[in-house]
Amino acid sequence: MTELRIAIVGFGKIARDQHVGAIAAVPGATLAAIASRNASLPDLPHFATIEELLEKGPPIDAVSLCTPPQVRRAQAVAALRAGKHVMLEKPPGAGVAELDPLIAMAGEAKRTLFATWHSRHAPAVEPAREWLAARRITSVHINWKEDVRVWHPGQAWIWEPGGLGVFDPGINALSILTRILPKPVFVTSAELAFPANRQAPIAAKLTLTDLGGLPVTAEFDFRQTGPQSWDILVETDEGRMTLSRGGRIMAIDGRTVAEAPDEEYRELYRRFVTLAATGASDVDLAPLRLVADAFLLGRRTIVEPFVD
Ligand code: NAP
Repeated sequence: MTELRIAIVGFGKIARDQHVGAIAAVPGATLAAIASRNASLPDLPHFATIEELLEKGPPIDAVSLCTPPQVRRAQAVAALRAGKHVMLEKPPGAGVAELDPLIAMAGEAKRTLFATWHSRHAPAVEPAREWLAARRITSVHINWKEDVRVWHPGQAWIWEPGGLGVFDPGINALSILTRILPKPVFVTSAELAFPANRQAPIAAKLTLTDLGGLPVTAEFDFRQTGPQSWDILVETDEGRMTLSRGGRIMAIDGRTVAEAPDEEYRELYRRFVTLAATGASDVDLAPLRLVADAFLLGRRTIVEPFVD
């Protein structure tokens, strides 16, 4: 197998926590360089920007963009122009429409554009999808609440326009929802709580449905201290299915039926290697469209300022 030589661009929390280890663990993937304004790794070529990487760097086949969504489109364009495959961290863009020209560009260049949804690769997500496919679903509730100070310390971009605020984790829940439900859902109303000093919501409540009238509710909150919640509860004609810990554990009526170690990022890189072998793309915008619609439909309230 030819190695896919990958450069990581943007070396923050997720690059360190997940990408470096996953690339090292996946056959066919090699970390070849880093582009970061602030960080480097011993024995690895380092460049301050993606432009410098593409101009002066060692031979690479692909870039993995681990930067915030607001700056990724320009980086993806530069990489595709240089003939590289591109992996995008989630969310795939700061807006929805900016993805169309990227998809077209990748198609014309016969290069892979891979918009990742890491939570879809949590171990209990596929078992949940298969179980639900054979049942009648009567309601869904998402409870996705985490402490922003623990999980996003000092990440100023998350509070800026395009940073998504609480939808940065919330979109992970929506990526699972849009995978496990048999029919497409859409947003019917939203309540968004904006801190007085920030441009993005700290909490959100959504109602969604499908053409059959399925009631779906979601609560996202960045102010959760103590136990954290990343749960999806699905009522069916054959009992309640719970996906907890971000899709790692599946239970039916409280009894665990699927649980496995987290391999989300290894799965992403296995898929990237496979896609890049033929230059195929994988871009599903359904979760991002739901978030965009929540902003379009959202009733806004101003809440107390958030100080990091
Ligand atoms: P982060 O810790 O803030 O890291 C982002 C990195 O991007 C920064 O360290 C910086 O790297 C670079 N960067 C920041 N602003 C930039 C700018 N204006 N221009 C160019 N580069 C810039 O954020 P993160 O948590 O790693 O998140 C990055 C992406 O991964 C987000 O889209 C997030 O949703 C996604 N993600 C995060 C997590 C998580 O648990 N944190 C989980 C899954 C996905 P340099 O200083 O190296 O240039």
